[in-house]
Amino acid sequence: MLECCTLGTGGTLPIPERALSSLYVRVRGQGMLIDCGEGTQVGIRRLGWGFRCIDGLLLTHYHGDHCTGLPGLLLSLEKAGREETFHIWGPKGLKRIVEGLCVIVPPLSFPVLLHELPAEGGEVELIGLSIRAFPVDHGGIPCLGYRMYLPRLPVFDPERARQLGVPLPDWKRLQQGENVKTNGRCVRPEEVMTHPRRGITLVFSTDTRPCETLLKHADGADLLILEGMYGSEDKRPQALKNHHMLFSEAAELACHARAGALLLTHFSTSMEDPEAYLPEARRVFSNTWAARDGMAITVRYPEKDDKAWTSLF
Ligand SMILES: [Zn+2]
Ligand SMILES: [Zn+2]
Repeated sequence: MLECCTLGTGGTLPIPERALSSLYVRVRGQGMLIDCGEGTQVGIRRLGWGFRCIDGLLLTHYHGDHCTGLPGLLLSLEKAGREETFHIWGPKGLKRIVEGLCVIVPPLSFPVLLHELPAEGGEVELIGLSIRAFPVDHGGIPCLGYRMYLPRLPVFDPERARQLGVPLPDWKRLQQGENVKTNGRCVRPEEVMTHPRRGITLVFSTDTRPCETLLKHADGADLLILEGMYGSEDKRPQALKNHHMLFSEAAELACHARAGALLLTHFSTSMEDPEAYLPEARRVFSNTWAARDGMAITVRYPEKDDKAWTSLF
């Protein structure tokens, strides 16, 4: 299973109940962040999942509402006793932005490694996730969305393991992908792990207009977390001008991508209660939800060919 938490759901400017953009993703006790807006470290403390297990940060782009929490995050990581390398990925300009933000950060107890992703995106492996970065349309500035895939081991066939004479204590090693020696021969995991199983796909993208690359990479996602900067149709001129999306546009995208669930985030300060705009979006895509700061989401592996089960708290 995969867990995530929308630490900050505000767009552009914070309000008392809404910090700025950040998503915490956790798999088997290991964590990573996407975006690090102001207030991210406060959100992590409130959530209680800890700093120690956060291995890396992916940035979508360098507008202040997505990255100004970085100096505080690095200090919190140090206070948590980090010594291992901390990795940061982002679009073109990463080095300049991180160096600028870190002028106020004293020397850290751990190295920070920067990975600038090319304009067309790229691949990242982090906390067991295979992550594909892809470009989106935020008015011509480099901005990336992220498609994350958590693979699942194939089904273990105990009957086959017995036939091959593998002793019971060695089954776990085979399940974990190790070769096992038995009766003078080597048994490979693929001999006993027979039926492939679908994993979990999570897509996160903000800030952007609806675009071809987003539609392509959102395809079949179990959970789609997209920006919903504006709730109502009358804000379309602002959405076009500021290169953001309406709730209805995100819902159309989720529908075309055949997503399992849509969670909206990155709300304008002009929108007091995002939930009030959900009925309109749900007419387009029924499984649409509005995120809150600190909302924890669990996505479980799918049963057979169904979509993964998503629950929100
Ligand atoms: Zn933003
Ligand atoms: Zn932006």
